[in-house]
Amino acid sequence: MDYFGSEVTRLIEKLSLLPGIGQKTAQRLAFHIIHMPEDQVEEISSAMVSARKNVRYCACCCTLTDRELCPICASPSRDHSTIMVVETTRDLAAYEKTGKYDGVYHVLHGAISPMMGIGPSDIRLKELMTRLKGDVSEVIVATNNSLEGETTAMYISRLIRPSGIKVTRIASGVPVGGDLEYIDEVTLLRALEGRTEL
Ligand code: ZN
Repeated sequence: MDYFGSEVTRLIEKLSLLPGIGQKTAQRLAFHIIHMPEDQVEEISSAMVSARKNVRYCACCCTLTDRELCPICASPSRDHSTIMVVETTRDLAAYEKTGKYDGVYHVLHGAISPMMGIGPSDIRLKELMTRLKGDVSEVIVATNNSLEGETTAMYISRLIRPSGIKVTRIASGVPVGGDLEYIDEVTLLRALEGRTEL
């Protein structure tokens, strides 16, 4: 039954399209939004629309950005000869939060998963290989410690080895199947520092 009239119900329905937002949370958010100052609600909705319209992949590392090159790729103070390969932009954010990594990244937007029918050409590997034609001394493979992450790491290592570029894998202090973004900074740094050559 439609207790609230169609406007409120529609808002609840739309909010519950978001990940992690169940019916109850959607309802709580909807009531909160309805009681917020109108200009704040407009700011939220316009930020959503504008981000959706303007955000794209960085022309170099494939992370999400609203510029041609993301701030990390555009920064002269980063070490552009060290590339850390991660599965998602969220993983990049996790490493950036440690503030201790001064190389650059490459975001694959996924991992190889024969089970799910995701092959090498479905992730941003071609773009990574193109970058290796430049001045690169090390590729740090920081894919997740899951079956897919390990498969991807092995594939990347085999792909790069003939070029003579050093390929390393972060240490597996990271729990199996654990998503990088949920791991604390100390563990991330330990994994990075303890990386071994593939
Ligand atoms: Zn970039």
